[in-house]
Amino acid sequence: MSTLVIATKNDGKYSEFKKMLGPTSFEIKSLQNFPNIEIRETGSSFDENALMKAKVVAKRVGLPAMADDSGLEVQALKGEPGIFTARYAGQHAADEDNIKKLLNKLRDVPSDQRQARFVCSLALVFPDGKIFLKKGILEGFITLKPRGTEGFGYDPVFFVPALGKTLSEVSADEKNRISHRAKALEKIKKHLFMYI
Ligand code: IMP
Repeated sequence: MSTLVIATKNDGKYSEFKKMLGPTSFEIKSLQNFPNIEIRETGSSFDENALMKAKVVAKRVGLPAMADDSGLEVQALKGEPGIFTARYAGQHAADEDNIKKLLNKLRDVPSDQRQARFVCSLALVFPDGKIFLKKGILEGFITLKPRGTEGFGYDPVFFVPALGKTLSEVSADEKNRISHRAKALEKIKKHLFMYI
C-alpha cells in the first residue's frame, strides 16, 4: 500500500487533512510517525515555507509528502500578520494573545474596512522530484470582538459574509467545505490521486 506523509506534527491539522481526503487507497501518516524530523520555517512566503517542508520530508523519508503553510492577511495592516500569523504576539504566543494584538492594532478601523483573508499554500512533493504547489484563499472580515467556541487560531474573529458567522460559530464540517485549506487541497487532489 502507498503512503502519504503530511508534513506536520500538529494533530489538528493532520486530522483535518485526513478528514478532507476521505477514504483513500493509501495510508496517511504525519510527522508524529517520524519524530526525528525537525523543520524550521525560514522562508519569506507561504509558498516557500510549504515547499521547503514538503521537500525536506520527501527527501528524508523517501515517500510522497504534503505540507501546508497558512496564515492571515489583513488589508488595513498591509497584509500583516502574513507569514508571522502563528507567532504574531511572540514565538510561543497563545491564540488569545495573537487575537488580542490583532484587535488592538485594528481598534480604530471601522467594520467595513476590516477586510482580511486566510491563505493556504499547499505543496506536494514526490521522492522522484515531481512538485505541485497550489493556493487556497478564504475572504472575510475581522470582527470587533471574538465570537463562537469552535475551531482554533483566529477563527473567533474571522467573519465569513457568505455564512453570516465567524469560523468559530460553524461546525468543523461546514468550515472544511469552504476553508482556504479545503480549496488548496481540492486543487492538489487530482495530482495526488494520479501519482501516488
Ligand atoms: P502554520 O502552522 O505555520 O501554517 O501557521 C498558521 C497559523 O495561521 C496558525 O497558527 C493559526 O494561527 C493561523 N491559521 C491558519 N489557518 C487557520 C484557520 O483555519 N483558522 C484560524 N487560524 C488559522
